[in-house]
Amino acid sequence: MIQIGHFISNQAIAGTSGNAKDVFNPSTGEISGQVALAGRGEVDVAVAAAKAAWPAWSKTPALRRARILDRFKSILWERLDDLARAISNEHGKTFDDAQGEVTRGLEVVEFATGIPHLIKGEFSENVGTGVDSHMVRQALGVVVGITPFNFPAMVPMWMFPVALATGNTFILKPSERDPSVPMLIAQWLKEAGLPDGVFNVVNGDKVAVDALLEHPDVKAISFVGSTPIAQYIHQKGTANGKRVQALGGAKNHMVIMPDADLDMAANALMGAAYGSAGERCMAISVAVPVTDAVADALVAKLIPKIEALKIGPSLESGMEMGPLVTGEHLAKVSSYIDKGVEEGAKLVVDGRGFKKPQGHENGYFIGGSLFDHASPDMAIYRDEIFGPVLTVVRRNSYQDAVDLIHSHEYANGVSIYTRDGDVARAFNQDIEVGMVGVNIPIPVPMAFYSFGGWKSSLFGDHHMHGMEGVRFYTRMKTTTSRWPTGLRDDAQFSMPTLG
Ligand code: NAD
Repeated sequence: MIQIGHFISNQAIAGTSGNAKDVFNPSTGEISGQVALAGRGEVDVAVAAAKAAWPAWSKTPALRRARILDRFKSILWERLDDLARAISNEHGKTFDDAQGEVTRGLEVVEFATGIPHLIKGEFSENVGTGVDSHMVRQALGVVVGITPFNFPAMVPMWMFPVALATGNTFILKPSERDPSVPMLIAQWLKEAGLPDGVFNVVNGDKVAVDALLEHPDVKAISFVGSTPIAQYIHQKGTANGKRVQALGGAKNHMVIMPDADLDMAANALMGAAYGSAGERCMAISVAVPVTDAVADALVAKLIPKIEALKIGPSLESGMEMGPLVTGEHLAKVSSYIDKGVEEGAKLVVDGRGFKKPQGHENGYFIGGSLFDHASPDMAIYRDEIFGPVLTVVRRNSYQDAVDLIHSHEYANGVSIYTRDGDVARAFNQDIEVGMVGVNIPIPVPMAFYSFGGWKSSLFGDHHMHGMEGVRFYTRMKTTTSRWPTGLRDDAQFSMPTLG
């Protein structure tokens, strides 16, 4: 059984608080390790290390910072499979899916290596006679990332590559459920040449998070996780004077119009609803077929595909879906299926009876489930289940579908399947959701765009990575200057203007 502590000042260190939590292998249900839960003392040590490293790091030429990230990127390419295996072992997603996760995170590292260009300032000469003005973006100082279990590599990589490239020092507080991956990342950043204290990992729970939220030397917090915690982090962080971006939960809809290519839509739904066992903030969990005829045809196509899903241990090749992350989460997902039945939705495919693979009887497996004829007041529609459960809510018109989406509290991602350019264009303009797909099921923006939802899916003003990341992790400084020119300089008591 492995013991996971913290990573501070380029050293893996054991926890000292005396508190720890079990880490599980979701495919077997066995305890694979223990992760330390930091107390305030350990958080103080990490913040002090990051603070001490900041002056030199922030003044390191951007090109040099970029070159360290470039070396880290090469290490990631070389060891992509090692990281993917570590993800599959603790998260439970399939190996292919984990490889995809690492690649999407790596793309943010690639983006961040362009920092010398991205961080260029502005300059104007002669804003007044003999007076010039320039603007630069400067790093904030010690910044923190608090991340969820479902992307233990990619979500931290939404944050730290841009934070480090712009000259900040970073403390990562990862999920307690899959903590091995961030420790590998920390070790590889060290190998890439990152100076001591620039990137640190503190493992822990609410105690560590609260200590970070209250620490006067922490300047900004990036959070990704569930909506109640996102809201809490935003409120507490901003009340303590920190810059906060807090990305929350989701319930993503796919509208299927009568002119859509139904086979394409059904296949897209399979991947988007059941990939990663539905544990993605961009998973499609609601299908909205427009007209009953479309709904009947779509459901008929989905049933055999869901029943044929290849579900098994995360590292077994050929699997389409692995287990859920923990036994607790399995119980939660299962109870939502019970609830949907009680609420009167039609359970067309029931994943609860899934027969666990031989030798993995204690793994956290569940089959794919499909509800039809759900209504907007049901908990299975309103709540984020975060499991392989797709809910069909039938609508009679395009406008009814849009109204349904607008009535939901979450607004992370959305997708429409249609062949009609006018409908797609109107949808794209009018829909009140942060990330939109047109005949694309999971419209996760590439690294050079920015990721973020609207409404209760994001608290704060900045999305993540891309130029929004550069803006979040820097503050502007504008300097107005002139040099002695021999011009007479009388005292001026009125507001200076060009005249
Ligand atoms: P979570 O909210 O339980 O945990 C996220 C982080 O917050 C973890 O590091 C955890 O240790 C910490 N935390 C948990 N409870 C806390 C508390 N009471 N006080 C302070 N900190 C606390 O989320 P999760 O279950 O790990 O991840 C799944 C959730 O994340 C889903 O809701 C999913 O939609 C969301 N998510 C959102 C996005 C996005 O971009 N919007 C991306 C990925 C995941």
